Amino acid sequence: MDMLLGAHTPAKNPLSEATARGAEIIQIFLSAPQSYKKPLVREDAEMLKASELPIFVHAPYIINVASPNNRIRIPARKTLAEACTAAERIGASGVIVHGGHVGDNEEVAVGFERWRKAVDSFETTIPILIENTAGGANAVLRSTANYGPLFDELGDRNVGVCLDTCHAWAAGENLDVCAQSILDAVGRIDLLHCNDSKDPQDSRRDRHENLGSGEIPPGMLLACIRIADAPVLLETPGGVEEHIKDLAWLRSRI
Ligand SMILES: [Zn+2]
Repeated sequence: MDMLLGAHTPAKNPLSEATARGAEIIQIFLSAPQSYKKPLVREDAEMLKASELPIFVHAPYIINVASPNNRIRIPARKTLAEACTAAERIGASGVIVHGGHVGDNEEVAVGFERWRKAVDSFETTIPILIENTAGGANAVLRSTANYGPLFDELGDRNVGVCLDTCHAWAAGENLDVCAQSILDAVGRIDLLHCNDSKDPQDSRRDRHENLGSGEIPPGMLLACIRIADAPVLLETPGGVEEHIKDLAWLRSRI
């Protein structure tokens, strides 16, 4: 199959990082992943915008737009909006953000409405790709079956799906089955975060591993990639050398 393959890279000199890996797409952070800090204006913004390389932006992990606590939910919306503004400056292909989680005694469904309000709280031209997460009973997208009702709530807003294979595995899912179910329910998978897992299925643990070196059966990972038919992006451990190996692993098998 002919799909774009790439990796998450350091944010400094991302075009060189892409070249070093032979990556056809990349993902970067534009601000510290554990902070609400506003992204700085990059000196290379125009150059990144002009480049042919599709660049995805991962929004900070700290963002939880589904929180019942407005001192978490409101800064989360603001941080997501700022990530999108910064992503526009570099002409990014999408902003990836985790589904987040609702309160301890809440139904996950309240998270769908909070997501709609978050998306409606600012304007952007950048698609927001919502990613499934590994653990937590209150996570909006621990179960990928929740993509259907979430996207029913979001309607035709400019949002999409980022499916993380390690997270779905950690949540106890069969990757090929869940990829097909998402397509059936939502009609789209926009990006695949392609990671092996250090832990067994249903571990609830989020520990990425290099491809073929973890617990996910290679056949299941490859079936998921074929079904998703989306750009494939590694978030596997290591740097250039490890990513070159992981990309070669993919290229020889798909
Ligand atoms: Zn991911």
